[in-house]
Amino acid sequence: MISTVLPTYNRAPLAFTKGEGSWLFAEDGSRYLDLGAGIAVNALGHAHPALVAAITEQAQKLWHVSNVYRIPEQEVLADLLVDKTFADTVFFTNSGTEAAELAIKMARKYWYEKGEPRTEIIAFEGAFHGRSTGAIAAAGSEKMVKGFGPLMPGFTHLPFGDHEALRTAITPQTAAVIIEPIQGEGGIRTLPDACLKGLRDLCDETGALLILDEVQCGMGRTGKLFAHEWAGITPDIMMVAKGIGGGFPLGAVLATEAAASGMGPGSHGSTYGGNPLACAIGATVTRITADDAFLLEVNRKAGLFRQGLEGLVAAHPGIFKAVRGQGLMLGLECVVANTDVVKAGYGQHLLTVAASDNVLRLLPALNIPDADIAEALKRLDATALAIA
Ligand SMILES: *Cc1c(COP(=O)(O)O)cnc(C)c1O
Repeated sequence: MISTVLPTYNRAPLAFTKGEGSWLFAEDGSRYLDLGAGIAVNALGHAHPALVAAITEQAQKLWHVSNVYRIPEQEVLADLLVDKTFADTVFFTNSGTEAAELAIKMARKYWYEKGEPRTEIIAFEGAFHGRSTGAIAAAGSEKMVKGFGPLMPGFTHLPFGDHEALRTAITPQTAAVIIEPIQGEGGIRTLPDACLKGLRDLCDETGALLILDEVQCGMGRTGKLFAHEWAGITPDIMMVAKGIGGGFPLGAVLATEAAASGMGPGSHGSTYGGNPLACAIGATVTRITADDAFLLEVNRKAGLFRQGLEGLVAAHPGIFKAVRGQGLMLGLECVVANTDVVKAGYGQHLLTVAASDNVLRLLPALNIPDADIAEALKRLDATALAIA
């Protein structure tokens, strides 16, 4: 008989009852070191005191009001994000998928309002933008779209990081290009800064809008508040989610005034998006992660972790091949099946996440203590020894 929970996940036989910093406590009371952080969601670890305070305080005042009213908590967070980024305006969602939907709608509406019927959007192989019908059409991979057709038309898929293919495919008919600066589900594949710059140039030459999906790589994950800052470019539209809520459902679409110019009253909406509870938490996360001293610490911790991982690759050439990624968005290319490493990790009470390209994803809390980084390296070493 089918389980009462729709079986769309291959779940590990683990359940947790409590979290504290980088640790999760299982039903039997034992603790696991969490290098997945809810897949880059728990950016400040579990039960961060400032987030517990923010949610508690707001929960006692007001959870939800309709977007037919002004929502001051939403305005505070929007002001913060606009202050810290390229953006002039923000729409709040409950997830990354919803952010993808709006990003696509916004780009098409921009061209519609200009009286130029551009609808084509260029996307990339290995991409992940969510699970809605629009987001799977954008990603285009067979494993995500098979059986769900007919798909939303208008997407062209190019190899990730292939500048020549992009130069050929992008035309004055292209409405937008959508890309993750670092592919997460795709296997921690980093787009070199030069490619992102080249992409920005091609968009400028053709007028195509640049949509960056920073749902996984944003909010300080790479050591800058947003990953595109490393390349010194800015997008026209950006999707944010995961880390911005620190574990509470929250997403956002950030845009320049020009890119957002088609989105007037009635053009989009959300019942829950930007509710006071989510925005109070989001503002707390954003204040903490956007702080320069905090980001410096992310970079220092990342250097420490990465150095240790390079040592692991050298020590276990039969298990690990190389380290990839940036900041605390790291991947270990595996020689053995990455899913076997994830499973063996459970035996060492270590939580990691698999990704495409046979990569083991390591996405710890951005404030992981140095001692927990040392413990993570110890447990990864023990995991490799257990497989060998
Ligand atoms: C997780 C993810 C999404 C989808 O976000 P949800 O909150 O699961 O809807 C979109 N894009 C990227 C890059 C992601 O990692």
